[in-house]
Amino acid sequence: MTLNNPLFDDTRGNRDVDPPQNEESTDVVELVNDPVQTASKPTGTVLSSVRELLECPVCLNAMYPPIHQCSNGHTICSGCKPRVHNRCPTCRHELGNIRCLALEKVAASFALPCKYKEFGCIGIYPYYNKPEHESQCSYKPYNCPYAGSECPVVGDISYLVNHLKEDHKVDMHNGSTFNHRYVKSNPQDVENATWMLTVFSCFGHFFCLHFEAFQLGMAHVYIAFLRFMGDDSEAKNYSYSLEVGGNGRKMVWQGVPRSIRESHRKIRDSFDGLIIQRNMALFFSGGDRNELKLRVTGRIWKEQ
Ligand SMILES: [Zn+2]
Ligand SMILES: [Zn+2]
Ligand SMILES: [Zn+2]
Ligand SMILES: [Zn+2]
Repeated sequence: MTLNNPLFDDTRGNRDVDPPQNEESTDVVELVNDPVQTASKPTGTVLSSVRELLECPVCLNAMYPPIHQCSNGHTICSGCKPRVHNRCPTCRHELGNIRCLALEKVAASFALPCKYKEFGCIGIYPYYNKPEHESQCSYKPYNCPYAGSECPVVGDISYLVNHLKEDHKVDMHNGSTFNHRYVKSNPQDVENATWMLTVFSCFGHFFCLHFEAFQLGMAHVYIAFLRFMGDDSEAKNYSYSLEVGGNGRKMVWQGVPRSIRESHRKIRDSFDGLIIQRNMALFFSGGDRNELKLRVTGRIWKEQ
């Protein structure tokens, strides 16, 4: 987390008002005197007080080496240290450059459950290996893939599929082939327009078809692409094709769906999809260019 955390100053401010100096110092002494017992027989209380000690008082994240401390023993993570202008956020003493080796060693003897335990991960990891596991834990919840809003919902795939149905009212579609119409009047006005997401269910998985308008340099374009509701390692097992055309012309795109772990914007900005210039799209639409009427057909298949 985050050097840009807007709460940063607030958090520090709260500490200024109410520094829990005495309690923290006492805990440190107990631990440093008895790390072996702490490691071999972690009672619930000791465990949770060690966890508290390993939480940076500024950003509230778990601390990893180098862990710093002030001359009074208050700790701070290496990410926050450069941001507090050499003042301990707890007691306001000069911070200097003291490392808290004792706490780093206690942490090393420590194993904790994955933070996605509530999502089903049963793994327990040595403190220092935990971040690596968590960064690729398959139980890590996904962000809502809906593109039109900054939706804060997270969850596993079946939860998100329900959420897309119930809360975003997306079109659901069973099967691996599709034929979809995108219509918009006044296409000249469209800036960064997003159409309703379509969710496909096939091969026991879910895929999201995105279609939207955006500006690519000076050009107004539309892009259509597919995302896989799951991890990238599995997304690679699938391919998809999209076709759009009219007036005797046709554009075809073949691609590999990208995981919804990647933001929809990132995929769009890497142009990993069927890109149609607006002029071409209006030509495909026929008529008098006052209405966008595109028929996108497509297919999803599993690679052998
Ligand atoms: Zn911190
Ligand atoms: Zn201090
Ligand atoms: Zn995990
Ligand atoms: Zn959502």
